[in-house]
Amino acid sequence: MTTTKHCRQCGTCCRKGGPALSREDLDLVRLGHIRHDQLITIRCGELGYNPGTDRLEPVPVELLKVRGKGGGWTCLFFNEAQNDCTMYAHRPATCRILQCWQPEALLATIYQNTLRRADLINPNDPILAEIERHEQACPGKLFTDLLTEADNPENVTRLTEMVRADLAIRDDIAHKFGISLEMEFFLLGRPLFKQLAGSGLECVEENGGIRLERRKK
Ligand code: SF4
Repeated sequence: MTTTKHCRQCGTCCRKGGPALSREDLDLVRLGHIRHDQLITIRCGELGYNPGTDRLEPVPVELLKVRGKGGGWTCLFFNEAQNDCTMYAHRPATCRILQCWQPEALLATIYQNTLRRADLINPNDPILAEIERHEQACPGKLFTDLLTEADNPENVTRLTEMVRADLAIRDDIAHKFGISLEMEFFLLGRPLFKQLAGSGLECVEENGGIRLERRKK
């Protein structure tokens, strides 16, 4: 049992993942403390880390999180050498609320008042229509639901179609708008093939395309 009563700034929370932004954090983006390409979208229904329960679970709303470093989970703003936050004075609301020794305060606010992509994009920007096209072709909740029964061959067929559609739309948008991979993570979230971990399926390249197959044991 922990006897901690205050933050020891051990960095454990920061290593478990960047914070999800709330509407309170809007000015952090507007004023440039956090850039769009430092965020990753967890689309509604996709699996996301819940710091309150310390588990991965389908998220009931769209979340914008600070990206991890180099494909890992550690928050982009965490300084390993100094064991501290490089934007401490401007850290997001979640980081101010989280007390690892008593997570109740965070649990009361989680999934409330969250920032979404549309809050950070000009309403006239044509990229919004592309985001909607992606949502229609690759709904996050449907993908997560299909993954829970990945042994079912019909599900594998549907998952394959969605992974292909996801890759095709990303490729199309990258060419049309000339966006970076980091910006793609903000606009479209994590590629679906990256979300196959733990399902028993893996994505294999074949004849210039992809297919899903059972992971070899
Ligand atoms: S923004 Fe700072 S305090 Fe918040 S998780 Fe990242 S490094 Fe930690």
